[in-house]
Amino acid sequence: MKTPWEIKLPSVTQALGRFVDLQHIPPERLRIATARGSKIHDYIFMDLKELWIPPALITPEIEGYWKSYLIFKREMIEQTVRLEEKLHCTCYGYTGILDWCGILRGEKGLTVIDWKSPVTEGKTWRSQVAAYWHLVECHARPSVDLPITRCGALILSPTGGTPSFREYSKFQPDYFNDFLFALGAYRAFSG
Ligand SMILES: [Zn+2]
Repeated sequence: MKTPWEIKLPSVTQALGRFVDLQHIPPERLRIATARGSKIHDYIFMDLKELWIPPALITPEIEGYWKSYLIFKREMIEQTVRLEEKLHCTCYGYTGILDWCGILRGEKGLTVIDWKSPVTEGKTWRSQVAAYWHLVECHARPSVDLPITRCGALILSPTGGTPSFREYSKFQPDYFNDFLFALGAYRAFSG
């Protein structure tokens, strides 16, 4: 039995991983979807850092998602404050890689967003995003003096359409509480 200080901090995705049901997805499809998701994340990071993305990298299987992201960027992003950053929570003991935090057009506060490329909404997303909210609010160096007012998952469209924003702002404290239960269960029974 490990003592608490011998245990590596679990990540948000590890703590929630048990509740993501991937049983019904054939392994090959899952592998392709995971690779696609990671490419999209990488290119969004590069694009928002103003790095050059050779057009050949935007292959047909990600082209729709990419166009969908560009619509969101053009119409909605006012300012990026934090991007693809690993943060540590020292009060509850977990880590997480935040996708994006910034100011959306017309907003007075910060929004925390996780990029998503599946078509259906996952049950764990709201708790995942709520956990990132806490990381930014309590454990990120302040760079702009604004409160977080919104959070959600941005589902990019596979066909290049306008992405859909699943917002979890209103019940964020409840979803964060659900995350803490999952984290507690993970710590007690896994690893
Ligand atoms: Zn914390």
